[in-house]
Parts: sequence; structure tokens; C-alpha cells
Amino acid sequence: MTLVSGWGRFPVVDSDVLRPRSFEAVGEAVVAGSVARGNGRAYGDAAIGAVRTIGMTGFDRVRSFDPATGRIRLEAGVLLADLIDTFGPRGFLPFVVPGTRFVSVGGAIAADVHGKNHHCEGGFGRHVESILLRTGQGDTIEISREQNSDAFFATVGGMGLTGVILEATMRLRPVETGWIRERVISASDLDAAMRALDVGDAATYSVAWIDCAARGQNLGRSLIYLGEHAGKGELAAGADAFPLGKKPGLSVPIDLPSMTLNRTSIRAFNELYYRMGARRAGTSHVVSLYPYFFPLDAIAAWNRIYGRRGFLQHQCVIPQDGARGVLGEILDRVARRGDASFLAVLKKLGQGDGILSFPLPGYTLALDFPVKGDILSFLDEIDRLVVAAGGRLYLAKDARQSRATFEAGYPALSRFNAIRKALDPDGVIRSKLSQRLFDEV
Ligand SMILES: Cc1cc2nc3c(=O)[nH]c(=O)nc-3n(C[C@H](O)[C@H](O)[C@H](O)COP(=O)(O)OP(=O)(O)OC[C@H]3O[C@@H](n4cnc5c(N)ncnc54)[C@H](O)[C@@H]3O)c2cc1C
Repeated sequence: MTLVSGWGRFPVVDSDVLRPRSFEAVGEAVVAGSVARGNGRAYGDAAIGAVRTIGMTGFDRVRSFDPATGRIRLEAGVLLADLIDTFGPRGFLPFVVPGTRFVSVGGAIAADVHGKNHHCEGGFGRHVESILLRTGQGDTIEISREQNSDAFFATVGGMGLTGVILEATMRLRPVETGWIRERVISASDLDAAMRALDVGDAATYSVAWIDCAARGQNLGRSLIYLGEHAGKGELAAGADAFPLGKKPGLSVPIDLPSMTLNRTSIRAFNELYYRMGARRAGTSHVVSLYPYFFPLDAIAAWNRIYGRRGFLQHQCVIPQDGARGVLGEILDRVARRGDASFLAVLKKLGQGDGILSFPLPGYTLALDFPVKGDILSFLDEIDRLVVAAGGRLYLAKDARQSRATFEAGYPALSRFNAIRKALDPDGVIRSKLSQRLFDEV
């Protein structure tokens, strides 16, 4: 057995980790209590098998690519980082990228990850045409919107619980350059931030960084980053049309003492960050896609700054109507508490595609908290606000929500369970997350 955790390093649990080298070996590796794991960037317990964890990053080959259409067939372990480095210079990028490029295609499908463009392009799954799936029952099936469509919509966003994704066919987006024209807007409070994001619906990409230490009349003050793909004509003379992604430069070599992030250090950082950003407000400039999409990737192992006991990310989505009140209440409680991270993000989302996909039309707020003190009961209180507003929590970030919170947030759960049971009648595929939240079949 090996000790395994997600990116938040909480919980840490025993699981038998295997890294099969052929699809046949994947089949043999699937025993009762198995789940697939991609690059382990889900924060909590989603990518940890109840008994066995099947590592898929060895499956990293591209099967075919058609430059006329951008259609690509690839194995599930291919990382978006490699896809971008390889196909970016040929003028193609994934339609949807999350906040880190170190995720696998299988993990991106299973979580139906969203990017800064969910309001216009939907989630990762919207650009997937078909999937080769190894079910818990032992069948290997091709699934798409037309063929085994129930299995397809349960697999997109299904957190690995319908089986192991072996390969996928998807569309890449043609681009002229690897640069983004970024416009920064500063918003002095939450109302202004939400208005700026609403205006940002017209932009291809939009995201807000929120100062979650700000209180009173500054509550919710934010920097909003809008983005558009830049054309060749917008680049500085001599600039490479496609800048290469740098390997993470800085690294956090050891677990920092958990007191490194305290009320004073977070306040000081946020004040500085907001002021520096506000100085650029109203201006447009062209930045490489890497800092725009993946700012945290610049620092390797940044998850260690929260200390040995790890951290929790709380990401909720609140339906558009009534979102202002609930978001204000959550931010106020967090600011009064004082130990949330400086990495608070607010985004708009549209409709999700998969049966269990996280997005619904509204605002999503993501906050990080070190694991300490009464954090679990504090987050239970926040969950009650989210559920009362008709919202839900993102499974890819979750390590602790209750079954009642999960069931209230995902009304299509019974449909998902019925499809899962048809694909896996004996309930072979099981993760630590599914043991915690699902009535196991
Ligand atoms: C810094 C950072 C920023 C992030 N930003 C965003 C963001 O902006 N938007 C967003 O949506 N997410 C975001 N995430 C979360 C991340 O995109 C998802 O958790 C994604 O699923 C991770 O992919 P992975 O390959 O690491 O998968 P893992 O973490 O290994 O697994 C995630 C889930 O996918 C399943 N899975 C993995 N591979 C397969 C497979 N081959 N077959 C079947 N199931 C599989 C696992 O069982 C598990 O349920 C972020 C994470 C980090 C660390």
C-alpha cells in the first residue's frame, strides 16, 4: 500500500497504486474498489481508489491529428501541458484549460473542468467527441453523444466513476498566436466586481481575483482580468508567435510552518497585490498564455505553503439570482475569520454538460484554507448558505462536504447512479470520494 493524497494533501490515505503499461493491463488492474488517477491535481479524495488507484499518466501518446479540422485522438494520460507545447506552435490550443496545465486529458474529462471561458465555450467535455471507456463490468466501449450517450454524459464530469477513460477524440481551437490581450479592471467592492464580470460576458475569457481579507466598504474588492486571443499583428517586433512554457522556476522545497500564512501576512500581501493591479487598471497589454491561464504553475509544489497538515479548497457555484447576497455573506465570514488564502477567485459559469458536471449558470467562488482549528465546522456553515441558495460544491476540489450537501446540490444524482449501475452492476469502480458521498451500488 502507498500513502496517497490529492493536491490539497488532505486526506492522506492508503491505497494500492498501480501503473499499467497497456490497455489490457488496465483491465487486469481493475479490481473491486478501483478508480483511475490522472496527474493528481484534484484537491481532495476523488483520485484515490477505495482499494486500488490506477495511475494513467503512462498513457501519453497522440494517436492522430488532423490539422484541417483540429480533431485529435489521444490517450487519457496526455497532459494539457504537453498538448499545448506540441500543438500550440502549430496553431492549436485546447478550447478549455483549467488554472493549471498539469492535468491529464482523462482528469479534465472526468471533472469536466472549466476555464475562464465557461460562459462562452462550456466545459472541457463540450469539445470531446468520443471516449474509449473501460467499464467496471469489463467491457471496453466507445461512447459519444450519438453512441451510448447516457454513458457519455455520465462520464463527462463523472469523476472516474463510470470506468477508466483510455482514449478520447476532441477538437482543438485554431489560434494565431500563444499570446492573450489582457485588460485589467479594478473593482472597489463586490457589486462592482460582479458588474465587471457581467460586462466580461462579452469577453472570451474573464476571471476575478478577490481580496478576501478586505472588509466593510471594501468587501469583495477585486481585480478582473479579461482576455482575448491576440493576433500576430499585435505582438512586439521580434516576439515569438508562440512563446514556450517555462518549467516552474521557484519551488517550495519544504512544508512551510502553518503560521507563515496568517492574518497579517495575508492582509499585507493582498493590499500590495490589489494596489499594484489597480495601477494597471483600464490598460490593455499582450501577455503570454502561460501567466494568463496558469499563474500558479510558475511555482512548483506551492501546495506546501499551507504546511504539513495540508489545505482545503472550497469551491461553490451560486445561481445568478440571489448570488450577490450569499457571496457577500460568505466573504464577510471569511474576512472576519482571517485565515483564508490570498488565492480567492470569482468567475461566471454557464450550463454544465455532464450529468454531474459542476457548472450551473451563476458565479463560482474558490477559497483555500489551511487544515487547522475549527475549519471543518466553519466550512459546514458555509455549505449551508450555498445549499440554501440552490448552489453546489465542486467535486474535484472537495475533501469534506457531507452527503446531504452533495445530494442537495446535484439533483440529477439518481439518474447518474442508474447509468453507473448499468455500466458497473457490481460496483467495482469506487473512490474514497464515492465511498464518502454516494450510496455505493
Ligand atoms: C492549481 C490548480 C488550479 C486548478 N484550476 C481549475 C480550474 O480553473 N477549473 C477546474 O475545473 N479545475 C481546476 N483545477 C482542478 C483540476 O483541473 C481537476 O481536478 C482535474 O480533474 C485534475 O486532472 P488530473 O489529471 O490531475 O486528475 P486527477 O486529479 O488525478 O483525477 C481527477 C478525477 O478524474 C478522474 N480521472 C483521472 N484520470 C481518469 C481516467 N483516465 N479515466 C477516468 N477517470 C479519470 C479521477 O478518478 C478523479 O475523479 C485546478 C487544480 C489545481 C491544482
